[in-house]
Amino acid sequence: MGLVVLKFGGSSVADTEAIQRVAWTIAETYSEGNNVVTVLSAQADTTDELIRKAKELNPNPSMREMDVLLSTGEQASVALMAMALEKLGLPVVSLTGWQIGMNTDSDYGSARIKSLSAERLKAELDRRRIVLVAGFQGVNKFDDITTIGRGGSDTTAVAIAVALNADLCKIYTDVDGVYTADPNKVPGAKKLDEITYDEMIELASLGAQILHNRSVEMAKRYGVKMEVLSSLHRKPGTIIKGVTKVEHTKISGVAKDSNIARIALVGLRDEPGVAFKVFRVLANAKINIDIILQSIGRDFTNDISFTVSREDMNKAIEILEENKDVIGYTEINTTDKIAKISIVGAGMMSSPGVAAMMFEALYDSKINIAMISTSEIKVSVLVDENDADRSVATIHAKFFGA
Ligand code: ASP
Ligand code: MG
Repeated sequence: MGLVVLKFGGSSVADTEAIQRVAWTIAETYSEGNNVVTVLSAQADTTDELIRKAKELNPNPSMREMDVLLSTGEQASVALMAMALEKLGLPVVSLTGWQIGMNTDSDYGSARIKSLSAERLKAELDRRRIVLVAGFQGVNKFDDITTIGRGGSDTTAVAIAVALNADLCKIYTDVDGVYTADPNKVPGAKKLDEITYDEMIELASLGAQILHNRSVEMAKRYGVKMEVLSSLHRKPGTIIKGVTKVEHTKISGVAKDSNIARIALVGLRDEPGVAFKVFRVLANAKINIDIILQSIGRDFTNDISFTVSREDMNKAIEILEENKDVIGYTEINTTDKIAKISIVGAGMMSSPGVAAMMFEALYDSKINIAMISTSEIKVSVLVDENDADRSVATIHAKFFGA
């Protein structure tokens, strides 16, 4: 007998039929003798729908009231699921974030989990009840409801797994695991049996939106084993853990991120402190920088280019223009017609030539690289937006076969 935390996303509980199907999965896990805590998201598009309704009444509602509103989606899901399980004759209780002692800070809309008391959870499990927990929500020190960011139910599930020292945290979703590339776009994409936390974090932040990134970071910090699997098919998914079996392939996946813009500052003085000034003013404005490239110009000048997310592009330009005299440059060039393509793999550290293989694949397809950046387990390139999908396909074929 073990203790498992299950989490089902919005599409897995979209309607009555889906709820009944999930109820059977929960019932089965429970009947095998496990203690079961299940975290649910709001049904299908409920959260988006609630946001739409709110904006209709007030384009700028207070974040506090937004959280009161948005937390109801998850509350409805757990109540409905409890009813479905009651119908199956099983002992069940549904609980909200505050009832389980999910304490967060007061950053409404993207609150951070501070602690989870878990007493109520343990008491219910001791009574052999199935516990259903509303995901994505907590309570702050003022006893007000908070939410922890879009997609946050994954993180709720991992936080519970940590607090209860669970054997496994299973994230059921509408894909059957983590793939070597987007299976909807790359025909040869393969499902991975295992992936490390670090690889998953990279793939998630690179735009393979399967899991809430904070959930994987938390799982890594506390060593919680996760599994991503389909709520429709009964087959094993992808296990996420610290160390994986030695794979035959050098990389775990190819990802595309289109939410990216490039800014180039031309004609900077070639002297100490210039890069510092550029990135200090941007950091003060809380703009995240990704790839940075400095190139040598002519006549004692430098160019610095870097990337930001598309929604930060205009703000970044504004800040740089405001500080033009302090920084000292002649021109700003920007484009958002680009995409970042990355390969990720823990195996990269021990096998040379991985980057070269990627560049060769792009060369074979006559795709020009605008910028390159590397880390221990990742190589990223910037390419023209129009070449993005072709880049993923050709790189994927190079590493995994067509
Ligand atoms: N319902 C929330 C959202 O749509 C949280 C979640 O699904 O994890 O973002
Ligand atoms: Mg999700």
